[in-house]
Amino acid sequence: MIRESFDCNIFNLYGATETYWIARECEYHTGLHIPIDRNIVHIAKLNQPNQPAVLGEQGEVIVTSLGRWTTPFIRYRLHDVASIDFSPCPCGRNTARLKTIEGRIQDFLMSSSGGWVSPGAISTDLAYGRTAILDYRIVQETSNKVKVWIVPSPDFSNKDRQHIIAAITQHLGSIYIEIELIAHIPRDPSGKRRRVYRVFGLAI
Ligand SMILES: [Zn+2]
Repeated sequence: MIRESFDCNIFNLYGATETYWIARECEYHTGLHIPIDRNIVHIAKLNQPNQPAVLGEQGEVIVTSLGRWTTPFIRYRLHDVASIDFSPCPCGRNTARLKTIEGRIQDFLMSSSGGWVSPGAISTDLAYGRTAILDYRIVQETSNKVKVWIVPSPDFSNKDRQHIIAAITQHLGSIYIEIELIAHIPRDPSGKRRRVYRVFGLAI
């Protein structure tokens, strides 16, 4: 929508106040190139910051900023989740690229078999194209319980309720699901809209 409205190309840039920008897209939009003279980026296994993720695996972004000379940030945990790709890019730049920057660690849910489930995947299957769901929030309270708040449209029916249960079960396996219909879901104090997150098992 932005591209069409402004009739221009747009580029995704990823960064943090503490580290300046960390990676950005090139003209091929095949991931975000990491400028190796500015940042050293490692991807660690989720909730195991000292264990490197295997190549291509989604994990926690850990950054050493080479651009902050007075206040060094060394192996700084951003609590964001992404994967890294070392394959050649058609643009000719040789730097690794960040891919699938999907959200924060606490936005990832845990399936009943112990696997990580991205917030994007579960959101799409739950609500994409479903006009009966005006807004929602999924909160995993324990390893085997999820609470789902739904802001329903007037035509919300039992069929939608069954769809919600099926979508969550598909991703998380056999887990207790509590659905509550409410009129409004408030935003976070920061103004952000958090739709999917986990409140247990957070790494320190
Ligand atoms: Zn490129």
